[in-house]
Amino acid sequence: MTERRRVDNFGAGPAALPLEVLEQAQAEFVVYKDAGMSVMEMSHRSKAYEEIHQRAEALLRELLAVPDDYAVLFLQGGASLQFGMVPLNFLTAGRRASYVLTGHFAEKAYEDAKVVGEVHVAASTKDDGYRRLPSVEELQWDEADAYLHITSNNTIFGTQWRSFPDTGRVPLVADMSSDILSRPIDVAKFGLIYAGAQKNLGPSGVTVVIARQAWLETCRKDIPKMLRYDVHAKNRSLYNTPPTFSIYMMGLVLAWVKAQGGVTEMARRAEEKSARIYGVIDESDGFYLGYADPGSRSRMNVTFRLRTPELEQAFLAAAKDAGFVGLNGHRSVGGCRVSLYNAVTLEATERLAEFMRDFARKNG
Ligand SMILES: *Cc1c(COP(=O)(O)O)cnc(C)c1O
Repeated sequence: MTERRRVDNFGAGPAALPLEVLEQAQAEFVVYKDAGMSVMEMSHRSKAYEEIHQRAEALLRELLAVPDDYAVLFLQGGASLQFGMVPLNFLTAGRRASYVLTGHFAEKAYEDAKVVGEVHVAASTKDDGYRRLPSVEELQWDEADAYLHITSNNTIFGTQWRSFPDTGRVPLVADMSSDILSRPIDVAKFGLIYAGAQKNLGPSGVTVVIARQAWLETCRKDIPKMLRYDVHAKNRSLYNTPPTFSIYMMGLVLAWVKAQGGVTEMARRAEEKSARIYGVIDESDGFYLGYADPGSRSRMNVTFRLRTPELEQAFLAAAKDAGFVGLNGHRSVGGCRVSLYNAVTLEATERLAEFMRDFARKNG
């Protein structure tokens, strides 16, 4: 048998999963507990699956301290379907929604909303190359807006909101795909949060939506049922067949996060890990050029460049040879990116920091 070594995976998504989770899934893969079959083979109406489904929801509620008047939904279609579902449900005729443009995914959400109704740009940092986030004072929105949409962590540019705007009666909607579960959040500040699972929650295939129940019920009813939040909430995400195996895997990841100390501990680790990489960048005398403005830096995705594309290619190739993968920037912007999601260990991060220092020494 060939050696099957696990690399240090800093990919942006789908991303690293905790080894313990993969091993538990492996142990239960063919026969799940006393079910006599794999999770993938069971009815989504069976008692065994019902328990998996409820446990994942309960763990997510516990870890994020989701208030009781919020629904937790497990949907499909990725965060990308939420770009369309949010306006389809809430951007009704005569209303306007405001969007904060801070990167690629924020733009995509805005473009999809534009197809549905009237949209307004509350702020954009595009002219700054999306290197920074707008300050709360820069945001222009209106009390009459249907909602205000933000992206809590900009995966491609490497910026992250530290605190969130207070929007009062206007529901705040946040795409948290790349930083959910990496820090405590006050869910009550938001009307709706959505996140594809494949960065911090589990494998791809399931999308989490956390929404204020009372707002959710005001959604449009003259759209196909699969697109209606109220239909999914009423059926506890079992209106149709949910992505059962992805939800099972997410449940294992959630249990792992809880055992590690919850989101407070995830936040502590994210701070520590990102400080290691930013430290190398800042102490490299311009060998590594951090992309995001220091005040807007993300603890999940560290973006940087090297002085020339040739040097960048040499860095990525040498890193790959040394067992570090997933370091290339998004195809739309190039450069390098270190994604430090929950399952990425401090040890792996330290190995990479040491490699980066060494590469700079040899090539500086
Ligand atoms: C990855 C990502 C998306 C896209 O998610 P899909 O699940 O592939 O649709 C959207 N928004 C953000 C912030 C992301 O990081």
